[in-house]
Amino acid sequence: MRKIEHIGIAVKNIENSNRLFEKLFGQQSYKTEKVESEGVSTSFFQVGPNKIELLEATNPNSPIAKFIEKKGEGIHHIAFDVENIEEEINRLKNEGFEFIHQEAKDGADNKLIAFLHPKSTNGVLIELCQEKPK
Ligand code: ZN
Repeated sequence: MRKIEHIGIAVKNIENSNRLFEKLFGQQSYKTEKVESEGVSTSFFQVGPNKIELLEATNPNSPIAKFIEKKGEGIHHIAFDVENIEEEINRLKNEGFEFIHQEAKDGADNKLIAFLHPKSTNGVLIELCQEKPK
C-alpha cells in the first residue's frame, strides 16, 4: 500500500453535508457521482494532498444505510492507494485477511476497488483503490 487515498464519511443527506463540508473546508466538492452497484451517492473534496469522500445511501439496503442504522453518521472507511489491486488482494488473502469483495470492481472516481471485511481488520473498514488505466 502506498498512501491513504481517501477517507469515507457516511452521511444521511449528501446535499446538507456538502454544504456543511464546503463551509468546513472553504471550498466546493470537485465531483459528485452515483455508484448504483454499491447503492451510494458520493461527493469528493480535495483538501491539500488529502481526499474526503462523502457517502449517502441511495436505497434502504445500501451498506451505507445499514452502517448509519447501526452506528450513526461518521467515518465509514479508510481507502489505501495500491499499485496493483489484484496482486494486493492476493497478497492479503494469503496473509489471512477476509474480503467483502473477492475481486476488484468499479468504484467512484475512476477507481478499481475492493473492501476488506472489518472483522479481519480490528473493526476498521478498509478499501483498496487502484487508479484505472486511462
Ligand atoms: Zn471510498
